[in-house]
Amino acid sequence: MIYYSTNDKNNTTSLKNAVVTGLASDRGLYMPSKLNPLPKEFFDNIQNMTFQEIAFEVAKAFFGEDIPENDLKAIVNDTLSFDCPVAKVEDNIYSLELFHGPTLAFKDVGGRFMARLLGYFNKQEGGSDLVNVLVATSGDTGSAVANGFLGVPGIHVYVLYPKGKVSPIQECQFTTLGQNITAIEVDGVFDDCQSLVKSAFMDKELSSHMKLTSANSINVARFLPQSFYYFYAYAQMKRLGLADQMVVCVPSGNFGNITAGIFGAKMGLPIKRFIAANNANDIFFNYLQSGVYSPRPSVQTIANAMDVGDPSNFARILDLYGKDHEAICKDISGATYSDDQIAETIKDVITRTGYLCDPHGACGYKALQEGLQPDEVGVFLETAHPAKFKDTVEAIIGGPVEIPEKLAAFMKGTKQSIPLSKEFADFKAFLLAQ
Ligand SMILES: *Cc1c(COP(=O)(O)O)cnc(C)c1O
Repeated sequence: MIYYSTNDKNNTTSLKNAVVTGLASDRGLYMPSKLNPLPKEFFDNIQNMTFQEIAFEVAKAFFGEDIPENDLKAIVNDTLSFDCPVAKVEDNIYSLELFHGPTLAFKDVGGRFMARLLGYFNKQEGGSDLVNVLVATSGDTGSAVANGFLGVPGIHVYVLYPKGKVSPIQECQFTTLGQNITAIEVDGVFDDCQSLVKSAFMDKELSSHMKLTSANSINVARFLPQSFYYFYAYAQMKRLGLADQMVVCVPSGNFGNITAGIFGAKMGLPIKRFIAANNANDIFFNYLQSGVYSPRPSVQTIANAMDVGDPSNFARILDLYGKDHEAICKDISGATYSDDQIAETIKDVITRTGYLCDPHGACGYKALQEGLQPDEVGVFLETAHPAKFKDTVEAIIGGPVEIPEKLAAFMKGTKQSIPLSKEFADFKAFLLAQ
């Protein structure tokens, strides 16, 4: 499959190069040159298939030209060693629980797939050239990527996180791993970490010294596999006889997750429409209303994985729809919620139904509750386990949130991280010494 840049359709490359470089040379995002539709028989039978079987068919549509079937099957099966079940919250509203992976958030799917794909490419090359993955995190991305790549030969991961700005639970998920994972504690805020990573990619001396790539959702290897669980959600709803008017609502920050779902729909997945739920960072919501895209610095919220002021995958949405605002509005509507509304929603849902949402999922739930038509059934993506935001959620519900065993295990490890200033010169000197 050929991949092209959102900045220039003639700037093309292979899957492997797209994955190993992350971003196109013109700073655009890579797009697959075609979205292969899945056959009618697949959808007719999908309710009888397992998650791994469904994901393999979808993976073949994306990667089948580039990776032999058996290798691809191994990558898919190894990635999806956990379930993403649908849970009923109330009549007509269901939660797609994406938090049963190792770090209890949806990014585990893309993080693990990307790690295995890079590992595969590296083995093809005889394992000679070490690939270095740089990832800036405010919490969730770093843990999913680090755990996905842990122990993968030929790859080293550097996780940059802002000192004192990441919750202790999140911090121990990437600082206690050791092996090929290095945590870097930056004396600054998340934006400083992000700009260190961006500067590193643009630095010619560094890129001639070492192979650098990104594991954020700009990378096709992390982004595309996120489409798997939309197909699986459909299969589960079809099993329940509820898939005919299915609306999917996605709590969105960088818009990688929802864009992967839209790719699925373009491949034939019968999703009636999408809702993008924002927190107070309502840049996409405003775009839908006005047709004008006005990025601005993010504000901090209790759904902090969605604190994004210039969503990177917006470029992919524009590209998919040929920049046609009207066409985008036909498929996607928006919603935006303040911290107070998120808190009220978490409290209301658990009181009425017994279901505990995390702050991100709560935005998704609320948008369905407000926006569903009577004949529609809604599925929102529950993107993280509420225990990942323990202090916030406990304060809202006025009671304890149990920590799953998987999460508790991380907290027993020893923290190891390298303190660095937010100056690029320091980061560069550190990398050059590796
Ligand atoms: C990353 C993240 C999101 C936002 O996903 P995007 O793909 O960036 O839109 C939502 N919720 C949680 C818990 C996340 O970690």
